[in-house]
Amino acid sequence: MGIQQPISDAVAKGEAKVHFIDVGQGDSELIVTEDKTVLIDCGEREYSGDVIKYIKTLGISKLDYVICTHPHSDHIGGMSDVINEFDVGSVVMPKVQESVTPTTSSYSRLIDVIAKKDIPVRYGKNGVKLSLSEGSYIELLSPVKDYEDLNNYSVTARFVHGSTAFLFTGDIEKEAEQDILDTGANLRAQVIKVPHHGSSTSSSYAFVKAVKPDYAVFEVGSPNDYGHPHKETIETYSDFGCSFLRTDMNGSIVFTTDGKTLEVETEK
Ligand SMILES: [Zn+2]
Repeated sequence: MGIQQPISDAVAKGEAKVHFIDVGQGDSELIVTEDKTVLIDCGEREYSGDVIKYIKTLGISKLDYVICTHPHSDHIGGMSDVINEFDVGSVVMPKVQESVTPTTSSYSRLIDVIAKKDIPVRYGKNGVKLSLSEGSYIELLSPVKDYEDLNNYSVTARFVHGSTAFLFTGDIEKEAEQDILDTGANLRAQVIKVPHHGSSTSSSYAFVKAVKPDYAVFEVGSPNDYGHPHKETIETYSDFGCSFLRTDMNGSIVFTTDGKTLEVETEK
């Protein structure tokens, strides 16, 4: 377990790369376009040093956007360390209602470093658009409303580069999936970061059908205490003829797109 260093180098003109960084049982994704970089989550704190090294090895010193999908430690545990190390343009996170605002140390460290470095915060919600390089942008599809469960607050982000798209879903459960479907947003993506590490409480048939992915990427630890990914979830994606990639089996996974075609490399 644990991450290696990048298997893929800088982007060429007109290209974008999407890295699914192996942080065991947790999520971390890095989007690199010609002149912009976006980090989505960074796993538990024990991986922060590895994630920092991974990004620095790519020659990156600025993170234009840092998206914290939701304040659980397997997503933002090391984020205060990461934000400390880089020039950060802005932090995007959901505005959670007071009754579910976490009191965890990882969350308070995150809030502290954002204040200390005076980094602008943008609240993530459906309808927000983040522009990147020419022909590249991110549209946020959720949260759509308030929830009792932090997982459902996850910021869902659709990264579009030319005619290719990637969907990042944090840990949304079926309730938030339905709310996203109800907005009528375009969910189509060639690559999906399977919600909630492949839990059967996510990936409803209707949601996966709307995405129609060619690749299903599971960010899971080996072993993990939850039995992720669940068999039912794998069956759902199998119904759509997806290729499967898993950080517990493949290590870090890197997609390269020229806006038309996709190539994938894996650590193992
Ligand atoms: Zn999670």
